[in-house]
Amino acid sequence: MNQIRIDDIRIENGTRVLFEYTVTGDWENCFTSQRVAFIDYFCDISSVPQAVLAVPFICNIIPAAWVCDAVIEADTVDADFLDHVGEIKNGYKAIYPMIDFRGKLNAKSENVISKRDGGSACFFSGGLDANTTLMRHIEERPSLISIWGSDIKVENEQGWNTASEHIRQTAEKNNVQFYPIKSDFRNVLIEGELDKHIRETGDKWWHGFQNSIAIISHAAPLAFINGWDKVYIASSFSADIKGQYTGAGDPGIDNNVHFCGCSTVHDGYELNRQQKTEYLVKTCEETGTPVSLRVCWESQDGNNCCNCEKCYRTILGIVAEGADPNDYGFTWNEQSIKKCRQDMSDRITIYDYDYYPIQKRMIENKDRIKNAADYQWFMDLDISAVNGKLIKKIRRSRIARLFGKDA
Ligand SMILES: [Zn+2]
Repeated sequence: MNQIRIDDIRIENGTRVLFEYTVTGDWENCFTSQRVAFIDYFCDISSVPQAVLAVPFICNIIPAAWVCDAVIEADTVDADFLDHVGEIKNGYKAIYPMIDFRGKLNAKSENVISKRDGGSACFFSGGLDANTTLMRHIEERPSLISIWGSDIKVENEQGWNTASEHIRQTAEKNNVQFYPIKSDFRNVLIEGELDKHIRETGDKWWHGFQNSIAIISHAAPLAFINGWDKVYIASSFSADIKGQYTGAGDPGIDNNVHFCGCSTVHDGYELNRQQKTEYLVKTCEETGTPVSLRVCWESQDGNNCCNCEKCYRTILGIVAEGADPNDYGFTWNEQSIKKCRQDMSDRITIYDYDYYPIQKRMIENKDRIKNAADYQWFMDLDISAVNGKLIKKIRRSRIARLFGKDA
């Protein structure tokens, strides 16, 4: 039988939680060799009950327990979280009907009363989605939370220093609190092994199953201390393309994650990325202060590489709103536009649901775009055909063979 037992949860130096655990059964090959995980909150968490401290560890592994039909054994867990676990599982089932979600959580339900001051927090990576969510709720002065160990590896101090400095400045500018968290949660599971269990979904473990719930749940001890009512996590996909994408960051999952009286809001799902860009540029123009975005997946140094798919997508979106990408944290010139054109033709895969709205907006806004002629190739681009070019097909199959991933 597959099982994980949380043997011990203890606080070190008042700010750091350590989780000791034992794994048994066939699914052990999905776990790295470490048997102690940590989360550092950099603030006093000594008053947080065990039942709340357990939530982030459980959320990090619970999708794996469901997929591998495993039992999670814990002493106690927060009742508000436990009462909604079935709804979270149903959220996964709705996205992945081809997967059998079994397994269970065995833990004594404990009613946890936090001081309930109200207030809110917002997960903040510095990207377009997070900045839009912050602007939409700025009147609440939500605290910002960011996890070192999520998209920036826990071993990468330089990358984290750059990224967290950027978030610290955003917090200062908006007069809100910043809660950095350091966590080795992505070192607990072997994502590549779990990929094998979910192949038929066409998604990858981190993106499709682990990321959102694992991230959100890190807020539980902070929600207890601060008495927050709400924690916002920005949507990555939008309602208008429902059914065309998969991913763990979905309102059907996120909105069911509750802990100690605090609920999660999957924010901005009604807006697609271009509508968010429009909102962001408009808001920045009204206030006269552009924001420096950090969107890059490729760069581990905490800055934007300005030549990956995500950077290009964001840059072209900003151009389509008549704004200058150089004002929003990117380095962009005539040479970059030429390279972007070449890369789209030969190197990177682009999704039509991401790029059609950008192209449409650029054509509508043509008169507002500086050097619009430099982007005529993009306005004329046959987006549905560009990925089918032979050179890209060869490159994609080579990368898939070497790394088991798409380019
Ligand atoms: Zn990039």
